[in-house]
Amino acid sequence: MSDEKVPFLDLVTVHRGLQDEFVDILKTALSTAGFIGGPMVQGFEQDFAQFCESRFCVGVGSGTDALRFALIAAGIRAGDTVVTVPNTFIATTEAISQAGARPDFVDIDERTYNMDPLKLRQYLEKECSWDSGAKRAFHKQTGNPVTAVIPVHLYGQMADMDPILDLATQYNLKVIEDACQAQGAEYFSKKENRWRKAGSMGHAAAFSFYPGKNLGACGEAGAITINDENLAQTCRLLRDHGQSKKYYHDIEGYNGRLDAIQAGFLQAKLRHLKKWNGQRQEIAQRYNKLLAGAEGGVTLPYEPDWSRSVYHIYALRVADRAQLQKRLDEAGIGTGIHYPIALHLTKAYEGLGFRIGDFPVAERAVSQVLSLPMFPDLTSRQQDRVVAGVLKSLAVASRSGSR
Ligand SMILES: *Cc1c(COP(=O)(O)O)cnc(C)c1O
Repeated sequence: MSDEKVPFLDLVTVHRGLQDEFVDILKTALSTAGFIGGPMVQGFEQDFAQFCESRFCVGVGSGTDALRFALIAAGIRAGDTVVTVPNTFIATTEAISQAGARPDFVDIDERTYNMDPLKLRQYLEKECSWDSGAKRAFHKQTGNPVTAVIPVHLYGQMADMDPILDLATQYNLKVIEDACQAQGAEYFSKKENRWRKAGSMGHAAAFSFYPGKNLGACGEAGAITINDENLAQTCRLLRDHGQSKKYYHDIEGYNGRLDAIQAGFLQAKLRHLKKWNGQRQEIAQRYNKLLAGAEGGVTLPYEPDWSRSVYHIYALRVADRAQLQKRLDEAGIGTGIHYPIALHLTKAYEGLGFRIGDFPVAERAVSQVLSLPMFPDLTSRQQDRVVAGVLKSLAVASRSGSR
């Protein structure tokens, strides 16, 4: 069986033991016609808020909805600028644009691939000027007020939140965590001297339950976690056409509600999430151990001592990624690239006027990262096959001098 394929992601095995429970959830929905809102949604919202150590959770249709509603509820308006990182999924910047604001970027940390707080400081100090009357930083080139920052907890690892939150306080910025890949991730806040959960630190946080995420629905789903009650209430309005009562619209909103059936599935799966994240962490440690001596200049994921990553993605970094990916593909091993192009250089943002070289750390990273198979059910045997494939390919590469 040594030529058995290893998929990048296996979403079949994980649901095998859950089928009976899911059928019961479907039967409940059918017998009560509770398809949208109702007790299943509220039940999940309560459980997920508790899981994230956040006061409120508002279930929505997707992670993109969550980001968009969180920004709008936080007061981001047309003409604002919102800062994030270039190496994220486009939903982060789509939400910024769709809230009416202009996406802007700061570069990332070379080792964690997350927002570099120093680069954020330099951006605010050098590229912006502080207006003490308006209590705003204005971007010098565009004249826009910079009103929010979105740190992305990429690959399941939280961004360095303490200094980001300090800068946000100093410059009057809202902080929206993009926690779409980080359900259950933790960060040790030196300021508070305690571990904090992803989704509990910013003004609001966005989660995606796209099927492949650490907590995935069987369809589309997302959620916002929030500590402020008014902000939570605005998000509830935004997801449901601004209705405070059926057909009484306080504001204009969206159709961005969470399906009751998905909420039921998510509530059932949430009970396993801690165990699943633990399995991912064990798999990551085993990859680290087995790949530690690899030839060919491979960089393994870096987890600072203030971070407990939940390894949504296990990404290697190699000079010749195309070659490694091709060799693994030939060996029947699935891989992914998250993400192949930095957003400031993607076609959709041509109009923003960025150039190659604007964010060199992110640009280098996106050209070299390769994601290996990572899911809780990945067996040791499958993992051994992946490791053997990687080691063999890297050894060949270093012998032929193509590193
Ligand atoms: C998945 C993801 C999103 C979007 O979530 P959807 O549920 O697909 O809308 C946003 N940001 C990041 C970083 C993601 O990984």
